[in-house]
Amino acid sequence: MCPVRVLETDYLVLGAGASGMAFTDTLVSRASADVVMVDRLPAPGGHWLDAYPFVRLHQPSACYGVPSTQLGNDRIDDAGPNAGFYERARGDEIRDYFAKVMEQRLLTTGKVTFLPLTEYRGEDVDGHHLVSRLTGQDTVVKVRSRFVDATPLQAEIPARHTLPFPVHDGIRVLPPNDLGDLDDIGGSFTVIGAGKTSMDTCGWLLEMGVEPDRIRWIRSRESWLFDRAVFQPLDLVAAYMRLQADWVEAAAAADDASAFAHDLEERRAFVRIDPNVEPGIWRGATISRAEVDALRSIERVVRRRRVKAISAAGVTLDDGDQLAATAGEIYVDCTAAGTPATATAPAFEPGRIALRYVTVGLTTWSAAIFGAVEALPEDDATKNKLCLPVPFTGEAAGLLDVVQAALRGEVARSKNTELLTWNQACRLNPARGAAERMADDPDLVAAFSAVLAGVGPALRHLAARPAVAASTT
Ligand SMILES: Cc1cc2nc3c(=O)[nH]c(=O)nc-3n(C[C@H](O)[C@H](O)[C@H](O)COP(=O)(O)OP(=O)(O)OC[C@H]3O[C@@H](n4cnc5c(N)ncnc54)[C@H](O)[C@@H]3O)c2cc1C
Repeated sequence: MCPVRVLETDYLVLGAGASGMAFTDTLVSRASADVVMVDRLPAPGGHWLDAYPFVRLHQPSACYGVPSTQLGNDRIDDAGPNAGFYERARGDEIRDYFAKVMEQRLLTTGKVTFLPLTEYRGEDVDGHHLVSRLTGQDTVVKVRSRFVDATPLQAEIPARHTLPFPVHDGIRVLPPNDLGDLDDIGGSFTVIGAGKTSMDTCGWLLEMGVEPDRIRWIRSRESWLFDRAVFQPLDLVAAYMRLQADWVEAAAAADDASAFAHDLEERRAFVRIDPNVEPGIWRGATISRAEVDALRSIERVVRRRRVKAISAAGVTLDDGDQLAATAGEIYVDCTAAGTPATATAPAFEPGRIALRYVTVGLTTWSAAIFGAVEALPEDDATKNKLCLPVPFTGEAAGLLDVVQAALRGEVARSKNTELLTWNQACRLNPARGAAERMADDPDLVAAFSAVLAGVGPALRHLAARPAVAASTT
């Protein structure tokens, strides 16, 4: 066995997924620090390396990735379910993008070392312990500045997920990854799950020509989703600014999270697949109305119940009901949790940073903000105010807590001139370029004024909520 290798660095970043990449890209642009990045996977990109083949970003590529490097061509699609909206990268494009960012951008700075196929084992008095998954080489990293945990937002995805119910021998339960490689043709499908993966899977089956009545969807809960029309940057940024205005106006008036969500639905910012079912989920995903219309064509929806077991006889549900099987039924497991509930403990502490959401669901923008804040000369107490964690639970009931924390963080960041200047130009900020477009767009001016007028009333109204006032002010 080789002797233990010892490395010294300013920052050790655990995780080369989208979060670790956006943080590191920002930090090395703004600070003279060197960074060691470590990941157990063979390449950067995190969960995108194992994503199902028809996966796409649910937001535009124009504001995803790392600040230094454009993803895609900032093109507005003119055909398909995304017509009229900014392009959204496929999984393979995202994987290529992160590989290119690592090779052509981060490594060429001379400040970044990447250790793929390397497991992080923890810290003791000697330093942080790593082991190569290929050679078994042990490495100890001595960190001069901070250890950065870029894993708290890591997603649970179908390909790496353990089925939460028993399946009898001979029954095919596949992750969506395997749908492009089926041996037999003409079967029917039971899609299990209520999140964005199940929507993507049903949408893809329909797009591939599977008749709606050959799809059964076991969807235990309903989700609130952003209408993709309002989540548009650059030339369509007026819609995004209108969303910001609707967001603060609805927050200033809402008695509870449900009233807030219904108000946003009336303003056409939120949408749900079944307008007759009250959503319990909100994960910040976006969808187009064309996709929603397609999904509504699936009528065989099993609601409010979960799968308990699958056997040759069919599906046993948690209320004891049995759904009969048809010959050759293919079950598609879309029950992986996706983004986990996030911790709200302060992110900066001596020698450590743990990345969190500080924006409403925009993972890479949040991580880049951490990089920009870390490069500031401020102390940790100030940095924690600039990066107030947004308490994401995935539950619609938590929406107002998300709104309140995100607004408070945004107000704090807007008062730091250096950060404000960086943020206004950051390609991950969906509102980038809004100010420059105002001269030609009265709708943008009106939305901008409504946001400025609405933030104060929204924050005062939210702070007056008894339970939250005690916990987050
Ligand atoms: C299908 C899908 C679509 C999405 N679309 C969007 C979108 O449009 N916009 C958006 O903002 N978000 C989106 N998300 C949320 C998504 O989770 C983030 O965009 C982002 O990719 C998450 O990156 P991450 O780096 O936080 O986590 P991950 O991609 O999970 O990366 C974490 C990394 O840490 C590594 N790691 C963990 N523990 C160790 C250890 N002990 N040792 C070594 N390495 C370790 C893992 O190997 C992994 O590479 C989407 C999520 C999914 C599943």
